[in-house]
Amino acid sequence: MSTSLLYHGFGLPTGYEYQSSRYENGSIIFVILEKRFALRCSSCDSREIHLRGSHTRIFRALPIGNRPCYFEFAVPRVQCLKCKLVRQVKVRFTKGSEQHTKRFKKLALMLSRHMTIKAVAKYLRVSWDFVKDIQKDYLQRRYKRPNIKKLKRVAIDEVYMGKKAGYLTIVLDLQSGIVVYVGKGKSGESLDPFWERLRRAKVKLEVVATDMGAPFIKSARDNQPDAVNVADHFHVIKLFNEKLTILRRDMQRDAETAMGKKVLKGIRWLLMLKPENLALRKASARQRLDNALELNKPLATAYYMKEELRLIWQQKSKKDASNLLTEWVNKADVSGIRVVKSFARTLARLRVAILAYYDFKGLSSGKIEGSNNKIKTIHKVAYGYRDMEFLKLKILSMHENREDALSG
Ligand SMILES: [Zn+2]
Repeated sequence: MSTSLLYHGFGLPTGYEYQSSRYENGSIIFVILEKRFALRCSSCDSREIHLRGSHTRIFRALPIGNRPCYFEFAVPRVQCLKCKLVRQVKVRFTKGSEQHTKRFKKLALMLSRHMTIKAVAKYLRVSWDFVKDIQKDYLQRRYKRPNIKKLKRVAIDEVYMGKKAGYLTIVLDLQSGIVVYVGKGKSGESLDPFWERLRRAKVKLEVVATDMGAPFIKSARDNQPDAVNVADHFHVIKLFNEKLTILRRDMQRDAETAMGKKVLKGIRWLLMLKPENLALRKASARQRLDNALELNKPLATAYYMKEELRLIWQQKSKKDASNLLTEWVNKADVSGIRVVKSFARTLARLRVAILAYYDFKGLSSGKIEGSNNKIKTIHKVAYGYRDMEFLKLKILSMHENREDALSG
């Protein structure tokens, strides 16, 4: 064992020296000392000092395989001749008062790229929070303040992160696909710090794509009055899907009432019959099937209308899209389905925002959809995160390429 091995292998800086080693409870302890010439006053960096005893401390160092290793170091206490103070010298292989070497923390971070926080913690025999804090530290340095100077087009979204975290408001750079802001809640105020940041950087947005709820639209209009509000395909379909869910629930409830049950009762075998065989049955049997199908008709119509809705964003020209939108709204009006009719009113109100899509080239909602899917994955991993700041950083860093990304 030598000083040079600790230097090359364990990141011990120059000025320290290997003294001895011992083995305790499956751990390896390297006793080290700092050479006299390397000692300085921790306050003014002066070398003019007198030794005034020491205080022994233990630091986690890089493990050897699955064997924990420690540095045992009697940290010298020195009296500075310049500033007269008596204090411990700075421990150069650790940060502040931490009990781990810088190398050890670096290893935890490196492992985080391939293993979950839980796995890293188990391997290094440290707590989950210890690994989390190392990740957080790293993420904070890199992602706390995303560069917004060149921001032109953004999408604003709300995501539900479970009971603990509640709703988060996400702002996405539509050009790069990078999340540039994460706010708490889903109200217009959730965006205030973001608008403030834009103001300070003197950024004027060109496009703000939002969901169809009033709070974000209003907040964007108040704070970036020159930006055009665009209702993109992703958000419109998302809202329509929510309406479909309501419709399906309503219908299920109706079917559970006595009337519905009576209609649905015993028609399963009728549904299985081939049409030619059905023709041979009594008229009353056919009537029963028609009644049952009638019950499901609104759902079938609504599904069909969703497919037609998509086409509004796939037209060659704004004019074609405009015609299609009018046609869709009219169809919805006569559909007789309550939720579809109310959705049509929303669409009519947002007509300008929907058609604005055609005024900006390359405004596909693929990036919004992609980021939404990624956030859902983070949601799954992050469900247990109690640390809100950490959760935000995880979202801000989710565009990170695979090699650099940290596991949850
Ligand atoms: Zn000093």
